[in-house]
Amino acid sequence: MEDVVIAGAGPNGLMLACELALAGIRPLVLERLPEPTTENRANGLVGQVVRLLDRRGLHERLAGPIGPPVPAFVFGGMRLDLTLTDPNPLHILGVPQRRVEAMLNERAAELGVEVRRGHELTGLTQDADAVTLEVAGPDGPYRLRTRYHVGADGGRSVTRKLAGIDFPGVTEDRTISISANATVPAEFADPGSGGLRVPGHGVIPPFFHYRTETGLFVYAPFPAGTLLSTMEQADGEEPGDEPPMTLDDLRASIERVLGFALPVEPPSGDGPHLLRRLRGRNTRLAAKFREGRVLLVGDAAHVHSAIGGPGLNLGLQDAAGLGWKLAATLHGWAPAGLLDTYERERRPVAERVVMHTQAQAVLVAPGRDVTALRELFGELLQLPGTVQHIADLMSGADVRYEAATGHPLDGRWTPDVVPAELTRTARPLLVDSTGSLGDELRGWSDRVDLVPGTAQEGVTALLIRPDGYVAWATGSAAPDDADRKALRAALERWFGDPVDA
Ligand SMILES: Cc1cc2nc3c(=O)[nH]c(=O)nc-3n(C[C@H](O)[C@H](O)[C@H](O)COP(=O)(O)OP(=O)(O)OC[C@H]3O[C@@H](n4cnc5c(N)ncnc54)[C@H](O)[C@@H]3O)c2cc1C
Repeated sequence: MEDVVIAGAGPNGLMLACELALAGIRPLVLERLPEPTTENRANGLVGQVVRLLDRRGLHERLAGPIGPPVPAFVFGGMRLDLTLTDPNPLHILGVPQRRVEAMLNERAAELGVEVRRGHELTGLTQDADAVTLEVAGPDGPYRLRTRYHVGADGGRSVTRKLAGIDFPGVTEDRTISISANATVPAEFADPGSGGLRVPGHGVIPPFFHYRTETGLFVYAPFPAGTLLSTMEQADGEEPGDEPPMTLDDLRASIERVLGFALPVEPPSGDGPHLLRRLRGRNTRLAAKFREGRVLLVGDAAHVHSAIGGPGLNLGLQDAAGLGWKLAATLHGWAPAGLLDTYERERRPVAERVVMHTQAQAVLVAPGRDVTALRELFGELLQLPGTVQHIADLMSGADVRYEAATGHPLDGRWTPDVVPAELTRTARPLLVDSTGSLGDELRGWSDRVDLVPGTAQEGVTALLIRPDGYVAWATGSAAPDDADRKALRAALERWFGDPVDA
């Protein structure tokens, strides 16, 4: 019997596998594709997930040490001046998804995780004790029994369907989007800004959702090749994914959006080259993230527009949120109901992403009425408070899980009070700058590590969950009985009963 089987070796399945392995559980990962995909989706990670990767030592593998937050970003195709924020919460890591996946794959292998490629989940039933999975492997079908099964098998999740979990939401089919790797002649480049000089438009900044009243245009000059994208209003006549689109379709679409015939040439290099047309957009949220012994993470639990790049901020943090709770349940020390807090915490975060991606999609839509909305929004974006609110929303810095104490950090992402090296093991930590709380850990020292810390304004000690959120905090230099009682309650609430020391 397996402890955990994960369907899907995409970024979220692999991240969950790493988190489980760090917590002492060896999951088995089933992946339908025989080889890692060459398709690229995300071009970067946005928000708290960058700090999560840093704390696991994974940022370094992708791009060296974490840098400062970015000075500007985009919301609904409008510039967010992040110098107006204090603190600025928005970190970005500009790496393609396939590199993130390759890195997680390598990390999972180091941690001893088995990834079976070419093995497709085809059936699932569960009873009180276990889940039985049907798998189609390269040598034929076989069965597996597992104590828990996690669907990380993407937006069309077979796990979700087999578990009978609904996927309500909306399918908007008013827009048609085109994305393609292509070459733009050098005379259009604006070396100073890295943008594109287009007659009638001045310089279109790189990676910017440039909107006109007839559509949207994005110029994304990646080191591996330039990606051009458009989005237009669909009139019902356009083909969907078939017949395959051509560069002529892209040229025609750019001309409709910009009113200028940009002489787009085929891409150079070996590829793979993207050439994709998508009709509409799905925004859906699974009716439940858990059905008995079956759980969902990432796109299997939620799909939404990719605008602003929030997908992996959401999915990889789902994985970090679920990993330690599932491991604790399997180790037998999880307090009652711990696994259900996964959905209780992550659903509201997914709902916020659904909300802001839908709002952004409206802001970049064609039409004069939208132009008026953008004018007003542009005025609001001069106000530091508005920019702070949106930056906190996009980064996830505004996430606050249920707090048991009145301390402002309780339930929030942990500030950088300990060196990232100490969080690589994904163990719960009691960070104590008072030097007086060690005794309170008696009974939990097998599960929670004590580390010295430096006091910061308003914080002298913190209990940090493996996913990076604060479970308890105090600002007292000499914690009293009430502080200690609250600390023990938090230890019990998240890490179970004390054992005799
Ligand atoms: C065009 C585009 C641009 C995007 N840009 C960004 C961005 O810039 N930033 C960002 O954060 N996010 C972005 N996203 C979103 C991001 O790509 C997704 O959120 C992410 O891929 C979800 O990861 P996942 O692991 O949940 O699912 P997936 O990546 O879909 O992986 C699921 C895996 O499960 C496997 N699988 C499916 N069915 C089975 C089965 N029955 N048995 C076994 N295996 C199975 C699949 O082969 C696949 O490998 C973008 C998405 C798109 C489409």
